[in-house]
Amino acid sequence: MADLTLTDVRPWGGAPTDIVIADGVITELRQTGAPTSGEVVAGRGAIALPGFVNAHAHVDKSWWGMPWVSYGGEPTTQGRIAHERAERARHGIPSVDATTAVLREYLRHGTTATRTHVDVDLGIGLRGIEVAQEAAAALGGVLEVEIVAFPQDGVVRRPGVLKLLEDAVLAGASHIGGIDPCTIDRDPVAQLDGLFDIAERRGVGLDIHLHDGGELGAFQYELIIDRTRRTGLQGRVTVSHGFALGDLVGERQVALVDELADAGISWATVAPVRTSPLPWRRMRKRGMGLGLGTDGIRDLWSPFGDGDILRIALGFARLHGLRTDEDLTAAVRLATSDAAVFVHRGTHDLLAGARADIVLVDAENVPEALVRVPPRQLVVAAGRIVVRHAEVLV
Ligand SMILES: [Zn+2]
Repeated sequence: MADLTLTDVRPWGGAPTDIVIADGVITELRQTGAPTSGEVVAGRGAIALPGFVNAHAHVDKSWWGMPWVSYGGEPTTQGRIAHERAERARHGIPSVDATTAVLREYLRHGTTATRTHVDVDLGIGLRGIEVAQEAAAALGGVLEVEIVAFPQDGVVRRPGVLKLLEDAVLAGASHIGGIDPCTIDRDPVAQLDGLFDIAERRGVGLDIHLHDGGELGAFQYELIIDRTRRTGLQGRVTVSHGFALGDLVGERQVALVDELADAGISWATVAPVRTSPLPWRRMRKRGMGLGLGTDGIRDLWSPFGDGDILRIALGFARLHGLRTDEDLTAAVRLATSDAAVFVHRGTHDLLAGARADIVLVDAENVPEALVRVPPRQLVVAAGRIVVRHAEVLV
């Protein structure tokens, strides 16, 4: 017995299909025209995609829904960290209301699962994690939120942060974060040894922000690869941003991709403008997990971003000069099915047995949906209709 059937939709732009849903799961994909039961939504030929996965977010940092906050502070990573710490309390950050508003924007654009970094530091302790959990609960759990405890302000340069990160695991974080072990802590061995020690003992993953470019960044990859192998954490370590990989050339780059792939390290990028393109084809060919994220939106770091991961996929396509239908479709897959690993899903696609996370868009085909970024007509999350005509219903 179906709870919901989406009739006459085109999965990934294919033939007209009915998608049958029961108990939050896709139970059947069948040719359009068969008798239906339960609630029926007529797709009228819309394209159906799996729910988008935001593989790198900062849901706790935003002032979404509050009056405009003018950009300020020094325009460097260290300057932004200091500025955020000085200003966030004045704006009520982190706030359950703003975080819930951010998650609702994600839903509006069809994102049904996210991995979010959440600040953990000596100022707010674990409050950000509680905020993210309360916001996710406020939406009834329709948007899956996986939490990375993120030491934005540094690890070993702030005594007490390693203990906080371990406490964050007990509070529900599935991953521990890190940040530029060389330039923030200026002691890469101490930071990485501390993080890997907790991950190994607590059985959690790692997701490390690495902004440093060129050979300094590459050196830190080597430290991460070495520790991933020695601790047996293959398949549980992610590098976020990792601009250095795009900076390297020739055999040096190829060898590093191969080592990362062999160590089972996955990769999240927000495909920002003015960065070097990634060797994404080789990364995919070597089976590396590759996901797209929005990073923070409308926060004390940047006024930009609307939470639409399809728009990030478009940015990825433009950064890498993609043109063919095959490549444009691959960019959309990075935003959906290919990112399953970031939210602990074995399968994330329009298949029987998968969680019923489905987005309908009015487009001719998948490449056209990417280049036009149309409003989401309908979003189903865990089998529930949560968005109709870009209006959020939860
Ligand atoms: Zn980030």
